[in-house]
Amino acid sequence: MKIPILMYHQLEAHAPKGAPLRGLVVRPATFARHMALMRFLGYRGLSMGDLMPYLLGEKQGRVFGITFDDGYENNLRHALPVLQRHSFTATCYAVGEALGKTNAWDADLGIAQVALMDAAQLKQWHAGGQEVGSHSQNHLRLTALAPQAMRAQIVESRDGLSAVLNEPSGVRHFCYPYGDFDPAVVEVVRGAGYLTATTTVRGRFDTHQPGDLMLIPRVLVSRSTTWLHLLLKCFTRYEDKRGGV
Ligand SMILES: [Zn+2]
Repeated sequence: MKIPILMYHQLEAHAPKGAPLRGLVVRPATFARHMALMRFLGYRGLSMGDLMPYLLGEKQGRVFGITFDDGYENNLRHALPVLQRHSFTATCYAVGEALGKTNAWDADLGIAQVALMDAAQLKQWHAGGQEVGSHSQNHLRLTALAPQAMRAQIVESRDGLSAVLNEPSGVRHFCYPYGDFDPAVVEVVRGAGYLTATTTVRGRFDTHQPGDLMLIPRVLVSRSTTWLHLLLKCFTRYEDKRGGV
């Protein structure tokens, strides 16, 4: 079984023309259409935690993963009501030290600064039945850091975000900032007790050849992803053939 795990970033109707990475700002109406289509086809959208039994081959069914990178406040406003309407769950990967701030890591690229969920909003997302994952502490390239600093990014974000949520099981799912990892980073993530880690490698998760749960590929969804395009990405080899990043 091939399981598509969708990767979204921002959900907003307007995105400045010509702005870098504008393609990662998906219209809320498009997102709603994507979810309605998958529901219509009999598929259930699940967070990484809820997807675990399927990834491990313990359960089979019509499921797909839903993830949001960076922890934008517009996810809370535009995704939560849609997810709840369909009884879907999703994982939002938050940046530990950036709660209530903006995507400052994008500033040098000329990318618009947008609000990230603060602690109260992240709790609201979680209380709404959704999952919070870690996208590290400061959204740095982990392979560029010294071992101690790299480890701190991975462990402290887990502890900090778990404390915010006040949930005993804590934050158990990780997403590499910039999709940047190497064997050392992967081993620290695994050693920190995370159950999965998602990458920006494009493709669907293959339950027959699951590979490493610390190197999970995803299906990129962008502003130009129509419903037809989404079908191709989820149900054909279209995305698998993209490979790479
Ligand atoms: Zn990111």
